[in-house]
Amino acid sequence: MSGAISDLSARMILDSRGNPTVEVDCYVDGVLRGRAAVPSGASTGSYEAVELRDGGSDWAGKGVASAVAHVNGEIHDILVGMEVSDQEGIDTALVALDGTPNKGRLGANAMLGASMACLRASSSGPLWAHIASGGSSSLPVPQMNILNGGAHAASNVDIQEFMVVPHGFDGFQEALRAGVETYHALRSVLKEEGLLGGVGDEGGFAPDLPRNEDGLRLVLGAIERAGYAPGEQISIALDCAAQEFCHEDGYHIDGKVLSGSQLGDLYSSWLDNYPIASLEDAFGEDDWVSWSEFTAREGHRVQVVGDDLYVTNPTRLAKGISKGSSNAILIKLNQIGTVSETLRVIEMARSAGFATVISHRSGETSDDIIADFAVGTDAGQIKTGAPARSDRTSKYNQLLRIAEQCDVFTNLF
Ligand code: PGA
Ligand code: ZN
Repeated sequence: MSGAISDLSARMILDSRGNPTVEVDCYVDGVLRGRAAVPSGASTGSYEAVELRDGGSDWAGKGVASAVAHVNGEIHDILVGMEVSDQEGIDTALVALDGTPNKGRLGANAMLGASMACLRASSSGPLWAHIASGGSSSLPVPQMNILNGGAHAASNVDIQEFMVVPHGFDGFQEALRAGVETYHALRSVLKEEGLLGGVGDEGGFAPDLPRNEDGLRLVLGAIERAGYAPGEQISIALDCAAQEFCHEDGYHIDGKVLSGSQLGDLYSSWLDNYPIASLEDAFGEDDWVSWSEFTAREGHRVQVVGDDLYVTNPTRLAKGISKGSSNAILIKLNQIGTVSETLRVIEMARSAGFATVISHRSGETSDDIIADFAVGTDAGQIKTGAPARSDRTSKYNQLLRIAEQCDVFTNLF
């Protein structure tokens, strides 16, 4: 839909962890046409675009009054009057207005809220079709985080995410059902072992475990309990978020301190024994050598995904492509801060033959834009938490709606 942006207005809302975040409304010719809310990470990479927080004592320092004021002030002033369908022009104007390499002046949270609200406002039909703009689209294979550890849980588990990947199905709805049934099966497995307690930030169970490998054993047990064929119908994906346990002297895992190559050997033994299809952030964000060594050795049998390594940043991705650091990239809109820059990174990854996984953050809202984004960019995969809690199910539910209009679903693994 075309038309001039007539108003842009932001407010603070709460995210799924009870922290403030930015929500932006975009008006075209006087009518509210698009609304978007910005997510927030906990295990953030240090090279991410800056999320502007107020500091001080209110909201435990996490207030977003300054980011909201930037949208209602400078960003409003520069975008009002622009053609809403000119996403590139809007995002270029935002980047120029900010003027910093890391979006630290206006805040990536302010900029992304505005950018996504304009994207929504420019679409008159289904958003996924608008994003695809005639190109190919497909329903993504989900990575569903059913056992939470690391920075997303109070447990002793170092690995942040144990996910199930229901890939061996004919359609998205059946894949989702298999993932959901496995989630519930994990609940009974944990209950039997006396390990059932609370859940983590992304809705997955969060037990204390003797060793990280027990997470793999429990998830495998849940897949079998739910009646699915491990590796053929449902595989396991891990997000190690290794930066969180990467210290000066090495990687602290299972009470040991390992070098990058020893950690790679541990992963290789897990690959030998469990149906693992995807391994994210297996090493720290600056440990390029371990990334490349591991990908060269294991990239033929596992998807190696860079998240904190790349932070959806074209410069870091270019380095990873040239070094063969991984064979896939996690895509998070708020790591880079505008829609157009995100689309360019997806394109760059695809040209290099990398797989792409569109991702939520651990702090989410009910905004489901990443569902449309995953379908409309034909990304192939989405990672959006457990099939529980509205902040996570809002994305799965939007994919169910989209599945009424789009039926392409490809078994990727
Ligand atoms: P985050 O976690 O949103 O806390 O960064 C998600 C991830 O690491 O993929
Ligand atoms: Zn990650």
